[in-house]
Amino acid sequence: MTRFPVDETHDPALTSWVPSANAPGTDFPVQNLPLGVFRRHGTHDRPRIGVAIGDAIFDLFHAAQESLVTGADTLREACEGPALNSLMSLPHAHRLQFRHTLSQLLRAGAHTVSRTQLVPRADAEMLLPASIGDYTDFYASIYHASNVGRMFRPENPLLPNYKWVPIGYHGRTSSIVVSGTEVHRPSGQTRDDAAAPPSFGPTRRLDYELEVGFFVGRGNAQGAPVPIEHAGARLFGLCLLNDWSARDIQTWEYQPLGPFLAKNFSSTVSPWVVTMEALAPFRVPAFARAAGDPAPLPYLYDDADQAGGGIDVRLEVLLSSARMRAEGHAPMQVSRSTLADLYWTPAQLLAHHTANGCNLQPGDLLGSGTVSGEAKDARGCLLEVTWRGADPLLLPTGETRRFLEDGDEVIMRGSCEREGFARIGFGECRGVVRG
Ligand code: MN
Repeated sequence: MTRFPVDETHDPALTSWVPSANAPGTDFPVQNLPLGVFRRHGTHDRPRIGVAIGDAIFDLFHAAQESLVTGADTLREACEGPALNSLMSLPHAHRLQFRHTLSQLLRAGAHTVSRTQLVPRADAEMLLPASIGDYTDFYASIYHASNVGRMFRPENPLLPNYKWVPIGYHGRTSSIVVSGTEVHRPSGQTRDDAAAPPSFGPTRRLDYELEVGFFVGRGNAQGAPVPIEHAGARLFGLCLLNDWSARDIQTWEYQPLGPFLAKNFSSTVSPWVVTMEALAPFRVPAFARAAGDPAPLPYLYDDADQAGGGIDVRLEVLLSSARMRAEGHAPMQVSRSTLADLYWTPAQLLAHHTANGCNLQPGDLLGSGTVSGEAKDARGCLLEVTWRGADPLLLPTGETRRFLEDGDEVIMRGSCEREGFARIGFGECRGVVRG
């Protein structure tokens, strides 16, 4: 874990020459420096890479052209690209150098920088941060797996493989969209009555899943697994991920090969990628397994990963119905949980994914799976929150929700806080459901 050192770029005393980056509660202080892809609203400009700083975006294309991005030529060229993939593919040492360069450019007293490289975030349209070649969604929260298991198999909630093997499935990248994109209610085949034939129509059990996405940095050659001790450094950064799910379609189709059309109609990511370097102060030990749980097999076990392979990202889901917005109600918090509660560390997920020789590439996305905690208010999807609809959620308008209705907006947020460090945030992952 020392590959991601806590250093002077994390100094809580650092301030930025961008005043809004120094405002208490901002997601994007100078200690964060998340990367994204944007263009100015209403234009068809070529997408550009930028770094979020307070209410603004520092245009890295412009900065590279002005030779403000120092270091390797490949780094400057990567900043001129239309997506983060080239940056993601750089050796770890270059990424670390890059963070120091950005920190020095954006901190108070950086005289070489002109304000012309700043774009107000309000003037920017955010695009997908990377060209995502492949997407895998895991199932790494034991609380989520246990809750869902209890609903569907009360006698046998957690399948016997769960504590041994990270469970996942291959998702689809063509339908991954950036925050703010509307989500259309999918149709599919469902069967409510086991004695009747299935029917086809719009899902009546549309759900969200609160997840974190891990972007892969440098990839691995096919046939060359990434050992667990190197796996953490192959991650580039994190975003928020909403794995929209149609529960009725899922229930009918998922056996024997797993999720298919219940999941691949849309997945929403937040636009800013918080780098592993930025997250260094927020690393925590791997999940404390219950007494009697098996130790990870050797290819998933590394002392350093056990000591600091977890990440304490505090997550929340908020819901706002069309009527709530019309009547002026603020979005309602539905749940809060932490990524530190995952049964598997991100490095274990990556090591496992490559253990058979499967090659990952820069920009590939690994989803954590629904991040639920032990507490009732830490359940990361409506299936769990309403216990499959049995215990509806009451909204401030008096409306109730078992699953999502048309017009509902789901908002996910994430942040990291630790005594002695600046709070950093992820921005938001939003989507409104349309019929
Ligand atoms: Mn999922």
